[in-house]
Amino acid sequence: MTSIVVLGSTNMDLVAYVAKAPARGETVTGREFRTVPGGKGANQAVAAARAGADVSMIGAVGADEFGSRLRAALEHSGVDTDLLRTSEGPSGTAHIVVDDEGGNAIVVVPGANATVTSLDHGDEALIATADALLLQLELPLSAVTAGAVTARGLGVRTVLTPAPAQPLPNELLAATDLLVPNEHEAATLTGLADPHAAAEALLRKVPEVVVTLGAAGSLYAARGAKPLVVPAPRVRAVDTTAAGDTFVGALAVALGEGRPVPQALAWASAAAALSVQRPGASSSMPYRTEIDTAFDPTHARRDD
Ligand code: AMP
Repeated sequence: MTSIVVLGSTNMDLVAYVAKAPARGETVTGREFRTVPGGKGANQAVAAARAGADVSMIGAVGADEFGSRLRAALEHSGVDTDLLRTSEGPSGTAHIVVDDEGGNAIVVVPGANATVTSLDHGDEALIATADALLLQLELPLSAVTAGAVTARGLGVRTVLTPAPAQPLPNELLAATDLLVPNEHEAATLTGLADPHAAAEALLRKVPEVVVTLGAAGSLYAARGAKPLVVPAPRVRAVDTTAAGDTFVGALAVALGEGRPVPQALAWASAAAALSVQRPGASSSMPYRTEIDTAFDPTHARRDD
């Protein structure tokens, strides 16, 4: 079984559904409220576990009710939380307002995630057992960089999702094997709106890049190879929350199983396309048997 470690965030998403989001100083009445376990790290961990990997999560939850729920949600999806710390103070929260047009406004309060500033006892030994270490940017950069550098030193593949988009330290990029930005993040990192041009620019910093292109699929670029576009399945999207995290989790599993890159991308696209057809974040993520059923090997083709 592929073994994956995620060093990343856990957040409780506090979601209010309203007809129209309030302007500054305005109060509006919402229609519904939900608390949903999330955070980019936890979402990728759940995606990879459901896709069939042995997954462990490194990070922190708070010593509060949200923390217990966040931990339980990960365990429910089969993610090992032995090295998920419980820190003093509140869990991370994401305060989300979703309007009737599907637009959203989000405030993230890092809480416990901010306490993860470096690796802790046992982390290195756990990372050493992994086929891949998945990283995002919702933990302090010092911890993300320490994780990547440690994994690189151990010969473990590092997969970085540069979200939320921000400038990346050279030390982190130098320890990244595969960078997976979406179009917006690729543009922010390079100043180039065209994903092909952005991917090419990013290859000066990392050996492999996948730019996710929403309904248009994904673009793979590697040094010295011709870029490859793998289309996404044509589906009716109802909620694209965490599509990118589903994609990355499944991609890491497929690559860990030694599938060729085009096939791994098509399999990850099948997983992400399933997730966008259902509402929710981690709750929308598919299990391995569903991905295998939806997987269309003819999508794993070269594209000029
Ligand atoms: P994004 O973060 O929007 O680039 O989406 C990540 C991945 O999710 C894409 O590479 C697709 O595989 C999948 N995806 C996102 N939106 C859609 C959609 N409307 N239809 C099918 N797949 C999608």
